[in-house]
Amino acid sequence: MQTRFPDIHDVIIAGAGPVGLFLACELRLAGLSVLVLEQAQDPHSPLKQLPFGLRGLSIPTTEAFHRRGLLEEIVAAQRAKSGAIESAAHWMRQARRPAGHFAGLQFFQDDVDAAKWSWRLPTPADAGVAVDMESLETVLAARASGMGADIRRGFGVTAVAPSDHDVTVQAAGETFRGRWLVGCDGGRSTVRKSCGFDFTGTDPEFTGYSIEVELADAEKLSPGRNSTAAGMYTYAPPGTIALVDFDGGAFHRTAPITLDHVQEVLRRVSCTDVTIIALRLASTWTDRARQASTYRKGRVLLAGDAAHTHSPLGGQGLNLGLGDAMNLGWKLAATIRRSAPCDLLDSYSRERHPVGAQILDWSRAQVAIMRPAPSARALQAIIRDLIATRDGASYFAERVRGVSLRYDLGGSHPLVGRSVPDFALPDGATVGEHLRTAKGLLLDFDVRPSLQALASRWDDRIAYVAGEPRDRLGLSTVLVRPDGFVAWASDGAPNHDEAVEALSRWFGA
Ligand SMILES: Cc1cc2nc3c(=O)[nH]c(=O)nc-3n(C[C@H](O)[C@H](O)[C@H](O)COP(=O)(O)OP(=O)(O)OC[C@H]3O[C@@H](n4cnc5c(N)ncnc54)[C@H](O)[C@@H]3O)c2cc1C
Repeated sequence: MQTRFPDIHDVIIAGAGPVGLFLACELRLAGLSVLVLEQAQDPHSPLKQLPFGLRGLSIPTTEAFHRRGLLEEIVAAQRAKSGAIESAAHWMRQARRPAGHFAGLQFFQDDVDAAKWSWRLPTPADAGVAVDMESLETVLAARASGMGADIRRGFGVTAVAPSDHDVTVQAAGETFRGRWLVGCDGGRSTVRKSCGFDFTGTDPEFTGYSIEVELADAEKLSPGRNSTAAGMYTYAPPGTIALVDFDGGAFHRTAPITLDHVQEVLRRVSCTDVTIIALRLASTWTDRARQASTYRKGRVLLAGDAAHTHSPLGGQGLNLGLGDAMNLGWKLAATIRRSAPCDLLDSYSRERHPVGAQILDWSRAQVAIMRPAPSARALQAIIRDLIATRDGASYFAERVRGVSLRYDLGGSHPLVGRSVPDFALPDGATVGEHLRTAKGLLLDFDVRPSLQALASRWDDRIAYVAGEPRDRLGLSTVLVRPDGFVAWASDGAPNHDEAVEALSRWFGA
């Protein structure tokens, strides 16, 4: 084996999926040396392309991209494929604009009451963005390499040895050393397993199939989502089908996915005798829901599917992982630069674990009402009634689109822990634009010299922005973390001691 100890990297990231790549961008923004080791030689895969690779981005994800100046590129990638995306997003072809679904039960945009979200202002992130994984990864990889991250493909991590000072990583017969290692290496994470993170949760109830087929008699299937006595199928003509077969997850990754097998499952689940002439593409997945009990062990951290896996129902896994990266990047960077308060890095797991646990439960709740059983059908009927009401649709939209996300940061102000509203500031920029350098922000709408003087004590970590915004939502002062979450806020004259405490807590003494 060839052994090589290059200059130690500040951070090694295992996995160049969307989460690893976005994290690499975050760390490069802070000027750290970043090595990304990716197992696959070739970043392209038909499963990342349309139609299977289509992913809807949640509000926190689009806000994160807006705050780092990535949203325009991602929207441009979406536009470039708009025709193919429209045909993949078959559920959009309806008279009313759908806003999401719960276990296949849709709710509609015109039922959603956004006025309930009084802490939000309209932002570019409100434009619903759906993009294929390949385009997303291409944008993120180009940004990460352009910023100087070293991305090596064909370097699957095989072993990890952490010490108190560094982490040694074996990949493709070579040895690498980093001060920190982040496992972004997906659901079967080698980093997670090598470092003994526990990963507990619930076993699967079904095998899900995503297939691209040619049918002899397509008219036997009903387009859209269909619940049947045997499971559920979604059909987007001419040949894209998602199937859920309640087999306890028995088939997943146990045998090759053959035409004969898919034919049998499709007939049974659809309760038809439809015939498949050709199987062009197929992959399986399950509703296994597991989560690492902590996302940090010493110098090793987990993010994305490496930290949590659940069924793709409701489309939240990617968004959850990108949220991990946004939460982790600035904390790890401040820790490495020694500007962080001592427990800042531990707040990553403390904040993100409950968010992941909630999403796992959200996906379990969907499975519970999809089972081909009378009790599940009865529950479905109740949810169908509730989701069609204004309050119901608003509740589901808040959960599915991530608007309800709030970290428990203590503090009495209702905005603390929430994503900062995208205030339009007097200099013509929005808060999102001010966050592009990943510095914190002290927004002082009443232009108080005492606050400016206070902010100057942290001027390498936060920017002070003063002046009346277009709509201040009743606020006078807001302290924003580099990830865009509110650390402290005040409606009236700010309490100086509270401000010092919040600044020290998040940006160091
Ligand atoms: C059918 C389906 C539909 C989905 N739809 C949605 C949706 O609409 N919305 C949504 O938010 N989510 C959705 N998801 C989930 C989403 O795709 C994942 O949560 C997301 O891809 C996770 O990103 P990641 O970077 O953590 O992991 P991955 O995308 O799995 O990337 C991990 C990377 O690590 C690499 N790797 C693996 N092992 C190693 C190793 N040992 N060393 C180095 N590299 C390694 C892999 O090659 C890969 O490139 C869906 C998933 C499926 C299966």
